[in-house]
Amino acid sequence: MKPEVDLSTAYVYDPIYLEHDLPSHPENARRLKRILEVLEGEGVLGRLTLLEPRPAEEEELERVHVPEYVARVRQVAQTGGGNLDLDTYVSSRSFDAALMAAGGLVRAVEAVLTGEIDNGFALVRPPGHHATPARGMGFCLFNNIAVAARAALAEGWAGRVFIVDFDVHHGNGTEEVFAQDSAVFYASTHQYPYYPGTGDWSEIGEGDGRGTVLDVPLPPGVGDAGFARVFTELIWPLAERFCPDLILVSAGYDAHWKDPLAQMNLSLSGYAWLGRELVSMAEQLCKGRIVFTLEGGYQLDVLACGVLNAFYAMLGEDTIADPFGPSPHPERPVDDLIVRLRELHTLN
Ligand SMILES: [Zn+2]
Repeated sequence: MKPEVDLSTAYVYDPIYLEHDLPSHPENARRLKRILEVLEGEGVLGRLTLLEPRPAEEEELERVHVPEYVARVRQVAQTGGGNLDLDTYVSSRSFDAALMAAGGLVRAVEAVLTGEIDNGFALVRPPGHHATPARGMGFCLFNNIAVAARAALAEGWAGRVFIVDFDVHHGNGTEEVFAQDSAVFYASTHQYPYYPGTGDWSEIGEGDGRGTVLDVPLPPGVGDAGFARVFTELIWPLAERFCPDLILVSAGYDAHWKDPLAQMNLSLSGYAWLGRELVSMAEQLCKGRIVFTLEGGYQLDVLACGVLNAFYAMLGEDTIADPFGPSPHPERPVDDLIVRLRELHTLN
């Protein structure tokens, strides 16, 4: 008898995600290939349910993006490709890949919220959290997580969505979409000041959405201890107060100490701890409903092990892959920032 396979944790994947590619660019198809190799090599892929994505519909995209911008990305791809800004490329297949990335995350969110699966990770490219309603930037074409959160609300699958963005960069696009929306909480940890320049600690949301944005701008050098304090003392109590129906995670692994694009000090064990906390948060607050989606992370082995550890957390396993160990650099304290943010968010 084979051991019983637990198929309640899913991943979204389609080979079209490899067709958005520019080999000389840090955000290239090798990232996703390496993730799949490691998941396969560690025997995890076969224990997961594959959710096949479908392209996002125009109506779904236009809950987040202006039609002129969607048309522009289509046109750049159709004419052979080009650049939306200095660092955001569009290849001839990028429009179709980006539709499938957004649609893939919608598919995962639907499957979790309708009880088809327990939890999952959308292994999609291009990433999304920098894309604003009218503009692609920072390697992102369409804002996958925003499209999926809006779909969950519009379809009536969820009434309140809590987004955690632990990519090292601030998800300016996601925050812009939801700053005035009281049904979506956006919480971000990010290196600051750094690309894209947004995400100051005083941003808290606007109008009806006031109080539903948490920006935690961190100086370079914050690592496992600092991130753990931010999660325990800010993100947990705010999620508890918000009472979400779903937790979505913008999972970027570029806050690792070996990442070539940033200067933070998280280890893979630190990232694994964050993943476990988020899974526990979902279990405690919203029946375990959590979906991760791929954002940044440019050291390929770190990226692949980071994703692997997120799957271990969702599968309820204690295993942690951390071949690189803790950061060799000293840890920067976060005491003052936590005091200021707890005060701003009336957590005292
Ligand atoms: Zn990033």
